[in-house]
Amino acid sequence: QRLKQGLSRTREQFGKQLSNLFSRGGKIDADLYDELETILLTADVGVDASQYLLDSLRQRVKKDRLTDATQLQAALHDTLCTLLSPLEQALDVSTHKPYVIMLAGVNGAGKTTTIGKLAKYYQAQGKSVLLAAGDTFRAAAREQLMVWGERNNVAVIAQDGGDSAAVIFDAIAAARARGIDIVLADTAGRLPTQLNLMEEIRKVKRVIQKAEPTAPHEVLLVLDANTGQNAVTQVKAFDDALGVTGLVLTKLDGTAKGGVIAAIAKTRPHPIRFIGVGESLEDLRPFVAQDFVDALFE
Ligand code: GDP
Repeated sequence: QRLKQGLSRTREQFGKQLSNLFSRGGKIDADLYDELETILLTADVGVDASQYLLDSLRQRVKKDRLTDATQLQAALHDTLCTLLSPLEQALDVSTHKPYVIMLAGVNGAGKTTTIGKLAKYYQAQGKSVLLAAGDTFRAAAREQLMVWGERNNVAVIAQDGGDSAAVIFDAIAAARARGIDIVLADTAGRLPTQLNLMEEIRKVKRVIQKAEPTAPHEVLLVLDANTGQNAVTQVKAFDDALGVTGLVLTKLDGTAKGGVIAAIAKTRPHPIRFIGVGESLEDLRPFVAQDFVDALFE
């Protein structure tokens, strides 16, 4: 139910337009496919994924001998589920202790908020969590994390000044000494075009590997769903530079561009570990393809 509410804007645009199109009924013809393509592109599904979905639908129409547009809704629902299901891979944090999760992304994507949400999520599962205030560019980011840690009784490793790599290195050592289950390491926001900063985050990763050869166990790229197709560009750039192992797609509640998930699935598939559907700490959900698609169509 909350997921459905969280996706309300995407649903209103995308879901409603689709229902309108299909419920009209009538023949399945070129005009219908054209209209469908426009709806998909408007929801930021992107050219490649739209083409893929339309091709899959055409095959399905042929195979099942569908003749009426009303039959297409179920077919599109299935096709979307098939496309998105491979992205549904939950994070298994039990494989290492401490399990080190490094977060990356552009400024304002929602990294710090997501760290708070993740800390709460894992604490609720009985795991101990430690935060590394690795965003050493913005003093406010460190403060935000420290205040949050105090309020929720979560240890935060921070340094006045200092560099990101050193803070995270210390945090991993502290987590090991304290028998902590999960380290959530923040990093400064950066654009893929800021080459010196992309080099800096590569260094952070190398230093983490020095602290713990198997770490980081997860390189989590945080993406703001509002950026639409730009999110795909960010996945490519951060993946090429850093080796991304999972994604968090935030702010799905505030956007009608939820279709970008399909674009990611088609062009740069990575597990979507979580989606953010609001500003409060409870508004983080593991990504479940079927639930996501159901919420769009309901
Ligand atoms: P950072 O710069 O990447 O650390 O981004 P922040 O965590 O500071 O988040 C930037 C803004 O986005 C803040 O106002 C957050 O409350 C907001 N935000 C983060 N995640 C979500 C989400 O899932 N939904 C909504 N509506 N807002 C979010």
